[in-house]
Amino acid sequence: MYLKGIELSGFKSFAKKSELSFASPIAGIVGPNGSGKSNIAEAFRFVLGEQSFKSMRGKRGEDLMWGGSQSAPRANRASVKATFNNFPVGESRLFDIDFDEVVIERVVYRDGINDYLINGTRVRLKDIVELLAHANIGSTGHHIISQGEADVLLSASIRERREMIEDALGLKIFQYKKKESQRKLEHTAENVAHVASLRKEIAPHVRFLKKQVEKLEKSERLRGELKKLLREYLKREELYITYTRKDIESKREKPRTALLQLENELKKARAVLEKATTPNNRGKEILDAEKKLSLIRSEREELSREIGRLEGQISFAEKHPTRSREVGIPLSDARALAGDIERALDEAERSAAISAVKEGFKKIRTLLVSFIHKYSQEGTSREDTAPVEKLKAEKSGLDVRFRDVEEKEKETARVYKKLQEEIELSKDEGRDAERDVFRITTEKSKVEGVLDGLLRDEKILRHVEEEFRRDMEEGAALAGRDILGYSSVGIANEEVLQEAREKQEERRRAIEKIKIRVEEFGGGSGDDVLKEYQEVHERDQFLEKEVADLERSAETLKRLIAELDEKLAVKFEEGVKKINKEFQHFFALLFGGGTASLKVFEQKKEKHTDFEIEEQGDETLSENGNEEVETGIDILVSLPRKKIKGLQMLSGGERALTSIALLFAMSQVNPPPFLVLDETDAALDEANSRKYSAMVKDLAKKTQLILITHNRETMSIAGVLYGVTMGSDGMSKLLSVKFEEAVQVAK
Ligand code: ATP
Ligand code: MG
Repeated sequence: MYLKGIELSGFKSFAKKSELSFASPIAGIVGPNGSGKSNIAEAFRFVLGEQSFKSMRGKRGEDLMWGGSQSAPRANRASVKATFNNFPVGESRLFDIDFDEVVIERVVYRDGINDYLINGTRVRLKDIVELLAHANIGSTGHHIISQGEADVLLSASIRERREMIEDALGLKIFQYKKKESQRKLEHTAENVAHVASLRKEIAPHVRFLKKQVEKLEKSERLRGELKKLLREYLKREELYITYTRKDIESKREKPRTALLQLENELKKARAVLEKATTPNNRGKEILDAEKKLSLIRSEREELSREIGRLEGQISFAEKHPTRSREVGIPLSDARALAGDIERALDEAERSAAISAVKEGFKKIRTLLVSFIHKYSQEGTSREDTAPVEKLKAEKSGLDVRFRDVEEKEKETARVYKKLQEEIELSKDEGRDAERDVFRITTEKSKVEGVLDGLLRDEKILRHVEEEFRRDMEEGAALAGRDILGYSSVGIANEEVLQEAREKQEERRRAIEKIKIRVEEFGGGSGDDVLKEYQEVHERDQFLEKEVADLERSAETLKRLIAELDEKLAVKFEEGVKKINKEFQHFFALLFGGGTASLKVFEQKKEKHTDFEIEEQGDETLSENGNEEVETGIDILVSLPRKKIKGLQMLSGGERALTSIALLFAMSQVNPPPFLVLDETDAALDEANSRKYSAMVKDLAKKTQLILITHNRETMSIAGVLYGVTMGSDGMSKLLSVKFEEAVQVAK
């Protein structure tokens, strides 16, 4: 026995706290009409989560609360508590929670708010429904048969009927699980769609970043290549520059010294040349010597002539000692002669022709002959004699003078000659110096040419060096500063020096090409892009995994649903079979024969044409998709000794008996923990009442029964009886009664 008791407080006519405890498998509730018995049945519905006010004979929450009377004011809350034994001795556990005793409570307030509690803890209605589903206390309330509604199964629509039977068969829990799975599946599908759309949203970004990253990687590869090439290039270039600079320096040494020497020599040669070519006193000296020499010479000639004349006079005087003739010549005549001679000489001098000179001589001779002749004629008259001694003395005087002059001439000629020699010598020196200057200058310009060549080489080298530096800086900026460690590149010096320069230029061109490509990819390390890509990629992968996970769980759910469908179908089929067996049994028992059965059928109906579509049942789409297949249940009865078939033709009593047969059959197959029957026996005659009470007794072995009744037979089988009374205060009161009292109370 699971149900221990129920407590009503402010619920309908039970204004005060009223408690019923069900210590016996069969509890009877008796009392006069209108005393509040059916309110107890409704209290069961209420506490188990009933949402339909109609099935509790109300319109709103308020209707369930004690409405008040003269003696007691209305209640502001109505509450019902049902207490269950979760682990009764010899029975399986009822609820799927670990409490020995489970108290389910529901409270409704005036504002319509409901509170649900399990063991005093507030829970959601859903939790109650779930808890009860596990305990085969379904929401269709097949275990609470309200007054006058015993034939609810008979009058229900085929779909309601099926649902009630499913509920009674304890399939609700599977339905519930299926619904739950379907809900989860829907939710999962939504999530999949959501996550997929998120992925789709970021996809272009991922693609874009991926391309960027690929570009970066490519650029990184190129950069690496560039780095390698640059390092080798720089190393080679540096070796080349160092070597070339040294080479130029060493080549310069010799010509430099040579140049210095040549410059020195040149200076000297120039000095010599200058000295030789500069006009100085020598010129005047030699002119003076020349003049002096000619004066001395004419003096000597004069003296010689005088001496000659004296010698002539002396020799004449010695031959002609007595006679001495002397002719006087006027000065004017002598002057005239001298003038004539001079003119002739001038003429001769002026003319270059030798004939003219000869002519001059002839003229002078003629002049002299005529002059001598003239005075030879006239002079004879005048006699002038001088003594020989006097002449001799005169001559010896002249001789002395002559000798002096001769000496002087000799000396002067020597000096003159010396001067002349000196001048000649200096002229020679000048020529030599000139040659030297020429030679040195030539040599010097040759050496200068060599040095100029080296200077050009140096200039070129400097240019190479500048380019080297530029390459280094540019390279470092483009490929990273670690290229500056190019010195560690291992290349043999000889290899570099022996290599043709074009090879290195080729390298340079290759480097330039790569540089351009690296530049095309743009600068920057791309760390940001990489980081962003990683993030976005991770997110994308996360989402991808999420989709996969969700799809997997959707698969699992679909499988679960299929399994549940299968289970439901099998259990339903098996359950209906079992019910049919019992139905037949009870029907035959009550009617003394006849046949009764449930018939499961499937009917097709157009999709969305049935107004019942709102309360969807177990409908599956048929293959063409436009029709739905609905599972329904028919009740087939055939009474003994009567030709009637079909429910419509049954009498009220027959209908009640059929209902009871079905109700009991269902309860037998899958006994609910308890069953509340509100005057199900009302329409039975005495014979049937007996049969009924026997059946109830039998059923009580499997299910705890709470029977609201006026029926004596029924009362007689109850282990516990409660009497409900209502006084003038309008409040229902409970009292535990004995069978005899009960019969009394019921009246
Ligand atoms: P019967 O044997 O005729 O079936 P019963 O014992 O089942 O009668 P109930 O239907 O349970 O009687 O009780 C009905 C009584 O409960 C009515 O008299 C009604 O006035 C009273 N009642 C119903 N709701 C309230 C309420 N909210 N407050 C006070 N009294 C109420
Ligand atoms: Mg009643």
